[in-house]
Amino acid sequence: MSGLFEKINLGSKLEKQDLIDILNITEQNDLEKLFKAAYQVKLKYIGKRVSLRGIVEISNKCVKDCLYCGIRNSNRNVERFELSKQQIVDGLLTAYSFDYGSAVMQGGERTDEKFIIMIESVLHEVKERTNGRLGITLSLGEQDEEVYQRWFDAGAHRYLLRIEASNPELYKKMHPSDHKHERRMECLHSLQNVGYQTGTGVLIGVPGQTIEDLANDLMFFKEFDIDMIGMGPYLVHPDTPMAKEFPGFEQKRKEQLNLGLKMIAAARLLLNDVNIASTTALQALDPLGRELGLLAGGNVIMPNVTATEYRKGYQLYSGKPGLDENSEQSRLALEKSIAQAGETIIYNDWGDSLHYFKRCGKE
Ligand code: SAH
Repeated sequence: MSGLFEKINLGSKLEKQDLIDILNITEQNDLEKLFKAAYQVKLKYIGKRVSLRGIVEISNKCVKDCLYCGIRNSNRNVERFELSKQQIVDGLLTAYSFDYGSAVMQGGERTDEKFIIMIESVLHEVKERTNGRLGITLSLGEQDEEVYQRWFDAGAHRYLLRIEASNPELYKKMHPSDHKHERRMECLHSLQNVGYQTGTGVLIGVPGQTIEDLANDLMFFKEFDIDMIGMGPYLVHPDTPMAKEFPGFEQKRKEQLNLGLKMIAAARLLLNDVNIASTTALQALDPLGRELGLLAGGNVIMPNVTATEYRKGYQLYSGKPGLDENSEQSRLALEKSIAQAGETIIYNDWGDSLHYFKRCGKE
């Protein structure tokens, strides 16, 4: 272990085996050392800074059937909702009025033309009403390159599409057979071609996943030259097929949290200048999970700005926090806890990925 920390503290290039060693850490002392080392790298590249992106969960209607996800198409226990164009615009403008500087539209996957046009017109309207000042990220699944281009032209500049698992075999176990790993890869290439700051990530702690898979996921982010990472621990949703494969989940919550935090730390140590989200799934495992994520190397938090009445409809996993809160309450609680963690929120800024500018030679 001391060899590993020596390497980390010298800033030496990490190999796959080092990542495996990091992800295998269990001793509390070693975990703390790891998070501190990753935090130092964050300080060097980013500082004690957190960027916020107000997230609007636009709809739980989804054409996909991912075996782990609570809003999968064949889950009949979900009441489906879809925000109107105006409700989405209002959510995004809430993020703007809170000075978050940037916002995300996320939802179940849809590829029909009506939907594509609606997103386009939301982008146009919000860009116009904020004089182009609100940065907008999309997280709307697999689309044709032409669609990504249309949304980019309408003003979106970042896109999140998790690969979910970089190992195609594991991906197969997590999805029905018509969900293709190659298609997801193709989409990530399209996003980079179009010019988005491109984010991806994986589910952490899925049944059947090995530590080596996770180390390979990290290497995949590096090889793909990813700008942003949004990944989080897998949480069971009872109405999904994958729930049956993780019967002891309740006893494993602490382990899932730690694995999520170790992945953030390892990503920061390996990739240095990318944006790394400290995701809500961490908060579902521990009320201060997102703040712990910041102290392990994360630098982005996505507070919910969806109107409270629709939050219950968007449960990808059970135990999602903040369902009864309104956006103002989410904001105040978060501001307080971020300050307690000793971090500073950057307001009125897009919080772009430094890595993106390097990748494009625009440094
Ligand atoms: N339709 C969009 C957005 C998906 S929801 C897309 O395909 O990109 C955002 C993320 O939630 C997914 O990428 C997935 O990794 C995560 N998610 C889904 N079910 C989950 C669960 N049970 N536990 C933790 N995260 C989950």
